[in-house]
Amino acid sequence: MIIVMQDAASQADTLAVQERVHAEGLETRVLRGVAKTVIAVIGHRPPELLQQVRRMGGVESAMPIGEPFKLAARGPERERSTVRVGGAAVGGGAVTVIAGPCTVESRAQLEAAASCVAASGAHALRGGAFKPRSSPYSFQGLGEAGLELLAEARAATGLPIVTEVLDPRQVEMVAEYADMLQVGTRNAQNYPLLREVGGCGRPVLLKRGMGNTIDEWLMCAEYVLAAGNPDVVLCERGIRTFETTSRFTLDLNAVPLLRQRTHLPLVVDPSQGTGHWFMVEPLTLAAVAAGADGVIVEVHPTPEAALLDGQQSLNFDHFGALMAALRPMAAALGRPLAAPARAPAPAAA
Ligand code: PEP
Ligand code: MN
Repeated sequence: MIIVMQDAASQADTLAVQERVHAEGLETRVLRGVAKTVIAVIGHRPPELLQQVRRMGGVESAMPIGEPFKLAARGPERERSTVRVGGAAVGGGAVTVIAGPCTVESRAQLEAAASCVAASGAHALRGGAFKPRSSPYSFQGLGEAGLELLAEARAATGLPIVTEVLDPRQVEMVAEYADMLQVGTRNAQNYPLLREVGGCGRPVLLKRGMGNTIDEWLMCAEYVLAAGNPDVVLCERGIRTFETTSRFTLDLNAVPLLRQRTHLPLVVDPSQGTGHWFMVEPLTLAAVAAGADGVIVEVHPTPEAALLDGQQSLNFDHFGALMAALRPMAAALGRPLAAPARAPAPAAA
């Protein structure tokens, strides 16, 4: 932390600030210029000290120097992390594709979507069983029955499953079924939920809150990491802006920024991020070109009949075309698609 004293600050003001800082067991160095006095604070300060010092007499400003997200920060030496999700991985150089329906609607719908995305080379299956709906009267998801269908689809295809958890009280139950727990944009700053998934023993896909800055998002990740879970994958899914022609504005600036600022792997969700199926393939390619470790995309057997997010869901032909476009591009970038998960051997008759 650096503290800048006001021009009119007295010697006693500077001493009082130094004493306050020393009381926390920290050291200070004072630099006296012609008009200004600056106090450099050395050591790990308690987070509250910044605000407290700003209120002291004679203080003009106080600013932090290090990142406040100590566990998520990249640091000078730190390699980027790889997070394992069942037999798949996010990070580590290869491009990972998570695909499946927005929402689990029925056994037939999920089976069809799961076998399509597996056959096209996806690495994990997505599907919501608990849906955060704007209206309490809308379909809320199949709940635990949806999780059972996801577990069946995993058994049939070998794909690990990624599914959203909405409520801290349901984390344990969702973690019994899922290979990765998704925290959605509407819950990105639900700190009790973040703490709970921090103790769930499963990797976490942490979406960006639609109104959150990158720094706020990294502090959300810090909650999960600080609760003891090192396996966090960040997911850029678009933010609210003044633009209304797409559902959200997919912030691809986040990709190179986050590669600098955090070691955590990052995927992009061009489905929620645009709201339009025809934008999903170009923005998948753009996300991977920008350095994303993968994407999560919505795929539905009959998007026109989907209960949720049909407008932004790819049909099977579109998903096949996306994979066919992505494969050579990822290879050309030196980050080829990982080999697809192998379907488990059929049970003996
Ligand atoms: C979803 O993945 O279907 C979803 C609801 O995501 P988000 O939280 O990003 O809106
Ligand atoms: Mn969706």
